[in-house]
Amino acid sequence: MRLDVITIFPDYLAPLDLSLIGKARRDGLIDLHVHDLREHAHDRHRTVDDTPYGGGAGMVMKPEPWGEALDELVGNGAEGQVPHLIIPGPGGIPFTQQTARDLATEPWLAFACGRYEGIDERVYEEAAARMPVSVISLGDYVLNGGEVAVLAMVEAIARLIPGVIGNEQSLVEESHEDGLLEYPVYTKPATWRGREVPEILLSGNHGAIAEWRHEQRLQRTAARRPDLLSD
Ligand code: SAM
Repeated sequence: MRLDVITIFPDYLAPLDLSLIGKARRDGLIDLHVHDLREHAHDRHRTVDDTPYGGGAGMVMKPEPWGEALDELVGNGAEGQVPHLIIPGPGGIPFTQQTARDLATEPWLAFACGRYEGIDERVYEEAAARMPVSVISLGDYVLNGGEVAVLAMVEAIARLIPGVIGNEQSLVEESHEDGLLEYPVYTKPATWRGREVPEILLSGNHGAIAEWRHEQRLQRTAARRPDLLSD
């Protein structure tokens, strides 16, 4: 999968060199490029923001650098290919495991990281005339910029690409895969600071363990996320 991220803080994306995502990049499973939006600001101060029309607090990202950055991105693609452009924003559709699953099947994703009060609305309109565009929210709260949202989204999407997680079986029973949260997990030692691992897990009875785990999933989901059970 090809991934492009446009940001005014390329260093923010450095964690994508680490751990499983970094390995997936080195193994050629992910082709990730981070672009500095300021490369497309041509004044002495490399300005990417300006005051909002209509007044009000804060600054708005100017359309020209974004237009140029997206032109360059599309121009870098193979003939006729365009990315699916993801614009993170608190006013977007919520990012869920299903969103990650859907996006993990796409060949090319690009992420546009907003800052300040956001990006001039005409950039969304112009981009949508040329490529699929989705405005996606990480949750009902406001971050300072899109970079943290992109880190979270890329990690959730990339781990679903075949080959990125060594043991793909570990993806199957995870929280949100089938609407329930995961059961509690334990490792050695069997006793730690006087706390025992549930006896059933030491029994070797795989049927009984599966039943216990399912019950735990239901209980945990009911306690922490009753909204998931009503769905
Ligand atoms: N004025 C905007 C509003 O009220 O909708 C918020 C702008 S926020 C300070 C700056 C940038 O952070 C946004 O353009 C977006 O890129 C990012 N951002 C903030 N909250 C986010 C969230 N919940 N999910 C995804 N991106 C978010």
